[in-house]
Amino acid sequence: MSSNPDSPPGTAGPHSKSLASTARRLLGFLKPHRKGFVASVLAYVAAALTEPLIPQLLQVTLDSGFSRQHSFSLWLVPVVLITLFGARGLFGFLGQYLLQWTIGRVVSDLREAMMRALLRADTSVYHDLPGGAAVTKVVSDPQQSLTLMGYASITLLRDGLPALAMLGYLLWTNWQLTLMTLGTLPIMVLALKGVNQRVRRAGTQAYDAQILLGSIVDDVTRAWRLVRSFGAQGYEAQRFGDQARSVRQRTLRQTAASAVSQPISQIITAAGVSGIVMIALYQGRETGATPGTFAAFVAGLLQLMSRVRHLTEVAQNMTNGLIVARGCMDLLDTPPEPDPGHRELHSARGDLALQQVTLQYPGASRPALDQLSLHLPAGQTIALVGASGAGKSTVVNLLQGFAQPDSGHIELDGIPINELTRASLRRQFAVVSQDIVLFDTSIADNIAYAQPRDERRLEAALRDAALWDFVQTLPEGVDTAIGPNGGKLSGGQRQRLAIARALYKEAPIWIFDEATSALDTESERAVQQALAAWAGRKTLIVIAHRLSTIRDADAIHVLGGGRVLESGTHAELLARDGAYAAMVRAQAGED
Ligand code: ADP
Ligand code: MG
Repeated sequence: MSSNPDSPPGTAGPHSKSLASTARRLLGFLKPHRKGFVASVLAYVAAALTEPLIPQLLQVTLDSGFSRQHSFSLWLVPVVLITLFGARGLFGFLGQYLLQWTIGRVVSDLREAMMRALLRADTSVYHDLPGGAAVTKVVSDPQQSLTLMGYASITLLRDGLPALAMLGYLLWTNWQLTLMTLGTLPIMVLALKGVNQRVRRAGTQAYDAQILLGSIVDDVTRAWRLVRSFGAQGYEAQRFGDQARSVRQRTLRQTAASAVSQPISQIITAAGVSGIVMIALYQGRETGATPGTFAAFVAGLLQLMSRVRHLTEVAQNMTNGLIVARGCMDLLDTPPEPDPGHRELHSARGDLALQQVTLQYPGASRPALDQLSLHLPAGQTIALVGASGAGKSTVVNLLQGFAQPDSGHIELDGIPINELTRASLRRQFAVVSQDIVLFDTSIADNIAYAQPRDERRLEAALRDAALWDFVQTLPEGVDTAIGPNGGKLSGGQRQRLAIARALYKEAPIWIFDEATSALDTESERAVQQALAAWAGRKTLIVIAHRLSTIRDADAIHVLGGGRVLESGTHAELLARDGAYAAMVRAQAGED
């Protein structure tokens, strides 16, 4: 009874798709598992076919059970009844089991498809999704949506099919009366149509409010230290309470809207039934029908009505399920990250060049990079220095193809990087970025991330990152778990772990974006010495604020306002007595 599945204006919100197209796409997910679904339907059909036998037995019992001439053996009563209910129970079980089997598979497929969509999505998706929304969408929503719709399907099968069977039986016994009964149906449909629209609108609002509620929990668990140090528990509790109230109100509105549909249908049903009973009695008096026929008809009619009443819930559950599924489809349809290049580069020499590169972030008032030209020759150690906001990290992102320049060219080994596939471009880089990201796994799994584990390489990476001695003190060594985002490690240890991960990856270009800022002088020197051993074989880009770190670099580029202010070796730049020399003097003053 899903009337007008297309969204009426005002409920569309950020979603562009209609519920009908969502349903069509879900059917696509059902298709590979349709055998289970069809088997489930057949089981429910078999269960439904037993339904009309009950009033029929009632008639036989009443009409011939009490007479002495045509009576049947009494032992038939339990045999027939138990067989009947046994068969009905078995088919009902099979129907439900097979339906859940199907749903389980569809949910898994949908989750995996969404995860793949998330993994290949354009990077903007990670800025735009509210915190925790991706988790809700990928993990909970497919299950919730399919459960709602599965429940609706079960109702449809469990009550719809028996209702049909019963209808056939009623038509067979007394078609005039049955047709009169059907006359009430259009009135019910009309009454429920308006209700359904309100249910749908309220459902969308409740869902969106719930996502925001999740994002507050996400904020609080991520920033728990910050929350406590600001004493913001009360503030967060208040914020959560406000949002929870909004969710509650919207959910209640949704429930109220759908609950109205029940009494409306019941009143209409009651009116219909009383009229029909009156007519049946009148007819019976005229034609002299037996009480058994009358009782069977009324019993059948009441059963039919109770079935139909359940059917009114189907539309509501279907609608809510589709609303949730539409969010899943939105994620599935997130445009993938563009990957227009076709050239594969197995192992680059590591010669990088930026020519006249300009990039302005959306909404920014001035470009982050302004006609920037840089040459980073293969095998050299290049330092990028400059005030924060100068554009250093933007260069790092551009080189890996995480951002696109508005104009200008970027080349790797003389090949424009856009001609390379993203995968083969990114294989060339091992990067320790400014914000350290670690996985909630062991030290070894963090270092050999997504690569085969090799104990010798693991040890070498740990030694080079000045982490080996620390790891030896851990009870489980490299297999020690480090907690969510390395929460069990110190800031310096987290940075060194990220460095070890970069060193483990066999890439020709290494980029260290403020990667040693949290290290003590001793560890930093150890890391530097390890890197120096690779000089000439790796292109090493070092971004550092502590200028002592980079004084031995082959070239130092000072960036400011998205441009190169000056370039040269440490000695050349000191002799020039420009921006670099001023920075060195300022830091010498600090020490
Ligand atoms: P640096 O690493 O040298 O400190 P960045 O390259 O991170 O500087 O940033 C350069 C400029 O671009 C800054 O003004 C910064 O605010 C801006 N910026 C960086 N990332 C973004 C972004 N994702 N969206 C908008 N502006 C950004
Ligand atoms: Mg930066």
